[in-house]
Amino acid sequence: MTTSESCTWCQETVGRGEGHRAREEPGARSAVFCRLEHVVPWAMQGARWEEGHPDTAPPGEQSLKKTCARCGQALADEHVTLVRHRGEHRIPDAFCSVDHLAEWANAGGRYGRPA
Ligand SMILES: [Zn+2]
Ligand SMILES: [Zn+2]
Repeated sequence: MTTSESCTWCQETVGRGEGHRAREEPGARSAVFCRLEHVVPWAMQGARWEEGHPDTAPPGEQSLKKTCARCGQALADEHVTLVRHRGEHRIPDAFCSVDHLAEWANAGGRYGRPA
């Protein structure tokens, strides 16, 4: 049983209750980040997805917005989710593309300014 994973970008160990999990829909390829900032260089280097991590599924469709957190466009079937792990909490956001995920992360995520 895995209790921790490592950051897709820097290989830093990421515990279950911390970090960020990105996931590609459909297909469920995923990536793990120790901190939000590491999404940015990862995306710029071509977004190397890994095969599905077990703990990346967003916590229920209901809690997920149907629009991109960056540009506000309605999401197509193909989109990207990012779930922040904070202890037992799972805080999901969704994006129309890896580009917008990276822009959002670069702008400071939820605490940054809207596009
Ligand atoms: Zn990292
Ligand atoms: Zn977008």
